[in-house]
Amino acid sequence: MNNRLYGNLIFELSKSGRKGYSLPKYDYKYHTSDLPEELRREKDAELPECDELTVVRHYTNLSHNNFGVNDGFYPLGSCTMKYNPIINEEIANMEAFANVHPLQPIETCKPLLKIYHDLQKSLAELTGLKEFTLNPCAGAHGELTGLMIICDYHRHRGDEQRKKVLIPDSAHGTNPASAAVCGLDVVEVKSLSDGTVDVNDLKSLIEQYGSEIAAMMMTNPNTLGIFERNIPKIAKMVHECGGLMYYDGANLNPMLGECRPGDMGFDVMHINLHKTFSTPHGGGGPGSGPVGVRDGLEMFLPTPRVVYHDSTDDYSVETDKMETAMGSVGAFFGNFGVMLKAYTYILSLGKKNIKMVGPLATLNANYIKECLKDVYELPIEGVCKHEFVFDGLKDKSTGVTTMDVAKRLLDYGYHAPTIYFPLLFHESLMIEPTESESKETIDGFIEVMRKIAKEAIEQPELLKTAPHTTPIGRVDDVLAAKHPIVTYKQLLEDKMNQA
Ligand SMILES: *Cc1c(COP(=O)(O)O)cnc(C)c1O
Repeated sequence: MNNRLYGNLIFELSKSGRKGYSLPKYDYKYHTSDLPEELRREKDAELPECDELTVVRHYTNLSHNNFGVNDGFYPLGSCTMKYNPIINEEIANMEAFANVHPLQPIETCKPLLKIYHDLQKSLAELTGLKEFTLNPCAGAHGELTGLMIICDYHRHRGDEQRKKVLIPDSAHGTNPASAAVCGLDVVEVKSLSDGTVDVNDLKSLIEQYGSEIAAMMMTNPNTLGIFERNIPKIAKMVHECGGLMYYDGANLNPMLGECRPGDMGFDVMHINLHKTFSTPHGGGGPGSGPVGVRDGLEMFLPTPRVVYHDSTDDYSVETDKMETAMGSVGAFFGNFGVMLKAYTYILSLGKKNIKMVGPLATLNANYIKECLKDVYELPIEGVCKHEFVFDGLKDKSTGVTTMDVAKRLLDYGYHAPTIYFPLLFHESLMIEPTESESKETIDGFIEVMRKIAKEAIEQPELLKTAPHTTPIGRVDDVLAAKHPIVTYKQLLEDKMNQA
C-alpha cells in the first residue's frame, strides 16, 4: 500500500518550491509593507507545495477510499440513506439558484420566494399541519426550535412552570439533548417488550407531574421501526394534562402517502429534508430541519417566513413584526440548497408517486427482516415500518459480535448498518434499506448477511479481525474518539511526543 500515493497526506507529498500553476508576469511590485499591519502574518502559511498531477492523484485516490450511496448499498438505520437523484443536484447548481446572495434585495429574487412558499405548503400538506418554517438547519436544530415554540406557547398562557418533557426510552439521542439545551427536564417513558410506549407508565408519569408537563416527544414509527398504535390515546392523555405533542419526523418516509402526524394529534414537528426528501448527508451535513405547527400555533414560529398575498398574487418576507415570534433561529432563510433538492424531489415524484415511498420502504425492510430472522436474533416479531433491529446473530455461542458482522460487511462492499443503537438491546444491528433499492440489490445483501452468519460458525476469527480488504483494517474506535488527530500539526506533535 505504501507505494501508492494515497498512503500519504498532501503535506507529506510536498516538495519545497514545487508548483502546480504558473501566473503571468505582473509589473506591480508588491511589498508586504503595503498591507495594513493587522492583516500581516509573521510567518508564511505552511501550505503543501505539489505539482498538479500529484494533487489530482492524491484527491482522486482519497475519493476512492470513500463510500457513499453512489458506491453501494448503505442500509444505515435511522439515517435514511436513500438515493439522491442527479436532477436534484442539477437544479441546485443552476446559476439562478447557486449565485443568489442572501443580502440581495428581495425584489430581485421573487421567484425564490415562491419556491420557499411552495415548499412550506407541500410540507404542510404532507404532514397535516398548518404552517412550516424552513429556518432550522438540521433535525436537532428543528427539535430545539419546536421545543422553544412549545415553551413560548406555555409562557404566552402564563403556564411557564411547565418544564418537563416526556420522552420514550427508545428515542433518538437528539431528543433528550434538545430538551436539555432548551432548559427543560427529561422524563423517560418506558417501552413495552413489543417496543412501543408503555401507556401505563406514561399514565403514572402524567399523574405524578401533571401541570409541570410541557410536551411529549414521540417518533413514529419509533426508532425500532415499530408503528406506535396508541398515539390517539397518548395524545389525548397529554393534551388533557395541558401538554403539547411533539413529533420527531426525521425519517418520515414510511408515512408518506399513508398517514399524517397532524391527523394523529401532534401539535409541533420537524422533518429532516436531508433524509426523508433525499439530499446527501454523510458526515454531518448539509441539513435542513423545517418545523411545522398546527392551527393556532403559527404565531410562535420563527421568522423570516415567506407569506403569500392572495389579493396581489405576490410573496413577501415576514420578519420580527409579530411580537410572539421568537425571531430568527439561523442565518437568513436557512439552507436553501437542501430545500431546492427536497423541492425537486417532491415535484419529480409528484402527488401520485410520493404515496409509493412509504409502502416501498416498508416492503423492503420487512422483506430483509423475514429473509434473515432465522440466522439473526429478531427481538420484536411482527410487521416493521422502514427499519428494524436485530439483536446480533442468533447463534451466540461463536462469540461473534454485531461489531464483527458490521466490519465483515465492509469486506463485501456494503456500508454497515447502524450498530449498538438503539440501546434497548446489547447487540443492536439496525437495518434501513429505504425505498430506492432494487430487489436484486436487496437479495445480494441478504445473501451476504447469510454468508457472514455461516462464517461466524465456521471461521469466527475471520470475522473478529475483519475488515481485510479495506485500505485501513480494524480501527481502535476508543482511541480515535478519545485522542483524535485531525490536522497535520497534531500529527507532527503526536509523532514528536512518541519519539
Ligand atoms: C437523524 C435523526 C435526528 C437528528 O437529525 P440531525 O439532522 O442529525 O440533527 C433526530 N431524530 C431522529 C429519529 C433521527 O433519525
